[in-house]
This record gives sequence, structure tokens and C-alpha cells, in this order.
Amino acid sequence: MIAGNWKMNGLVGSATPELQELVKRAGDHPDPKCDILICPPATLLYEMVSLAEGSAVKIGGQNCHANESGAHTGDISAEMLKDAGAEYCIVGHSERRADHGESNAVVKAKAEAALRAGLIAIVCVGETLVEREGDKTLDVISDQVRNSLPGGATASNTVIAYEPVWAIGTGKTPTPENVADVHAHIRKELGSMMGDSDSVRVLYGGSVKGSNAAELMAVENVDGALVGGASLKAVDFWPIVSTCI
Ligand code: PEP
Repeated sequence: MIAGNWKMNGLVGSATPELQELVKRAGDHPDPKCDILICPPATLLYEMVSLAEGSAVKIGGQNCHANESGAHTGDISAEMLKDAGAEYCIVGHSERRADHGESNAVVKAKAEAALRAGLIAIVCVGETLVEREGDKTLDVISDQVRNSLPGGATASNTVIAYEPVWAIGTGKTPTPENVADVHAHIRKELGSMMGDSDSVRVLYGGSVKGSNAAELMAVENVDGALVGGASLKAVDFWPIVSTCI
């Protein structure tokens, strides 16, 4: 899977030609070997779902509330994302863990809400620079994987995204060996939690671009990418998709 996270970027006028271009390029591959996903801001969901209809490009949300409905001003439920045509929902992105104080318990509740609504949850995990330099990476990842995954997680309803916080939007990436170590560790953790752990897609995210995608996607236990900055323009995103399609 190659997934794009547009974060808080895009207006109908600027996003439409980008998604149209992506749909057009995907159309040249009638039997794609990977899922292509774009997670636009919620305001663009309807528009992007309608533009992507009938194509290989799927649309997802970037966050959801744990509850189905209620007095939660400004929040959006997983059911609302589903209603808008989303098929996936990112939960526990490090920007939400940091900016909104989302704990593992909150992320888990959101992931469970995504499953309840019939969405596939993309659960993000990743260490900060301080944690990496303190040799705590694998402990942090274990804690996040064990405590953020939804109950009832399977390979068909849950995707993991390993995103080292220090690599997001910085242009820095871990070495392929570092990525391999963490992904192997995640796979091992999943093995003790679920029956079909070998089939769970574990994405790498953090400064993936056309020039480094092939090397990162070739790492063992890496089943795709979650891409921020380089997903905003089809011309930048497509070379990443091309490594898998
Ligand atoms: C992200 O925010 O999920 C991300 C991976 O961002 P970037 O690709 O810009 O580092």
C-alpha cells in the first residue's frame, strides 16, 4: 500500500487537479499490485471520493472521534467518514499524539471506532529523537503496538505505519537497516497479538520521496509507505507509487 496523508493542505481548486492526475496515472495500471490511498482533509472527502470513484485510488480520513455521535464540537466520527465514502482512517499520527495529547488508550479507542464503522484503521507508531538517542526505540514501539491496536485487529482491518517522529517532514530517514530492525520487531509483536500477523501490512513513513522510495520499499517486512509532503502533488507521489504498482 502507498498512502498519502495530505494533512491540513488543500482546497477544492488545488486538490482536484492533483487527484485527477493520480486517477489518470492509476488508470494506466488496470491490475495494480498495491493499494493507493489518499487521506485528504475532511472538507475535501466528498469531492475526492467522487473524483476517485471507479478508480484504484481509495480515500481515507486522517483522524476520527471514538464515539459514533454526540456533543463533540469540531470532531468527526468514523461513521461520518464512512458515510462520506472513506474506506480507511489514520489514527495515532504523531502530530495528533503530540498536538492533541492522544495517548495509546485514545488511539486504541479511535482505531476500534474505525473498525466499528467498517473502516480499515491505519495505526501510527514511532519514536522521538530523544527516545532513539536514548536507545528506547524498540521499547516505545512495543508499548505503542501493544496498547494502540484495536481489539479484534486482523490483517484485513488494520494496517500499521511505523513513522519515526524525527523523520517526519525533516528530509531525514533511518537507514534501511534501522527500518528493517523496527519492522521485524513490529512483526514479532504482532505475532503475539494476532493470528494472521504475517499478512498485516506494516508501512514505513517519514520523508519518503521518489528518490528513496525504492530502497525503503525493498526492506524486509516493509509493505508500503505512508507519505506526507511528497503526496501533495501527483507528480511527486507517482514515482513512489511506481515502486509497487
Ligand atoms: C507523515 O506525516 O505521515 C509523513 C510521513 O510526512 P512526510 O512524508 O512529509 O515526512
